[in-house]
Amino acid sequence: MSIISSHNMLKKAQKDHYAVPAFNIHNLETMQVVVETVAELQSPVILAGTPGTYSYAGTENIIAIADELAKKHHVPLAVHLDHHEEYEDIVYKIDAGVRSVMIDGSHLAFEDNIALVKRVVDYAHRYDVSVEAELGRLGGIEDDLVVDAKDSLYTNPKQAVEFIERTGIDSLAIAIGTAHGLYKSEPKLDFERLSEIRSIVEIPLVLHGASGVPDKDVRECIKRGICKVNVATELKIAFSDALKQYLIEHPDANDPRHYMKPAKAAMKDIVKKIITTCGCAGKL
Ligand code: 13P
Repeated sequence: MSIISSHNMLKKAQKDHYAVPAFNIHNLETMQVVVETVAELQSPVILAGTPGTYSYAGTENIIAIADELAKKHHVPLAVHLDHHEEYEDIVYKIDAGVRSVMIDGSHLAFEDNIALVKRVVDYAHRYDVSVEAELGRLGGIEDDLVVDAKDSLYTNPKQAVEFIERTGIDSLAIAIGTAHGLYKSEPKLDFERLSEIRSIVEIPLVLHGASGVPDKDVRECIKRGICKVNVATELKIAFSDALKQYLIEHPDANDPRHYMKPAKAAMKDIVKKIITTCGCAGKL
């Protein structure tokens, strides 16, 4: 099997105190960068895509490319649904071959979040598909998801225990002060809350919005029990900045085999940096 669930990957990370990075990918090139780099560093990895990414690139295309890259590089890949909100959409993508999903009902009332997540878990677990859900609410922007800072909400530890018991999820995304996208000033993370949640919750914990969080803070989160670290914006910025620079310096360039190269190299540097921060090199 080349496309796998993230369940065992995250359990192993939790046991051995490191984190698995979930890199948001968008197309062939970004998938190549991630898979080539993790193969080089022998790191476990999750390839994540938002609903917008799957409709842009095509679900079947993403799965087919991941499958080929996994075989070519001898690296099992967890192809993951990031921030999916629709039950039918998730069912469609599980049937298409995805084995790791996030159902995001964090915008719903507690009981409605539980009902939606439980429905997804019941379907997903028939196929050994792992399920992540979110409790609390991250601020910031990711694709079509825009949450104003005043509507963001930190995770309540006691509610987290009840949420996990009643839904049967495999991992929990928590809100402790990170946000999607870039930060206006250095984020202040609630490490105490993370430790409290870790002390009463058994399953792997997930940190969203890692772009722009200082490395030392990400490491502290991992030390306190985070085992999945989500990164999107930093990768997009590295890729597009290098591409823009190349095209400015080579205004006549028209060959993607040339102008994609520096973009891929810049993204690769970020992937390596995150793998180092997560402590997951050699953990395949
Ligand atoms: P960033 O874009 O802030 O890295 O967040 C990524 C993320 O959390 C994906 O779910």
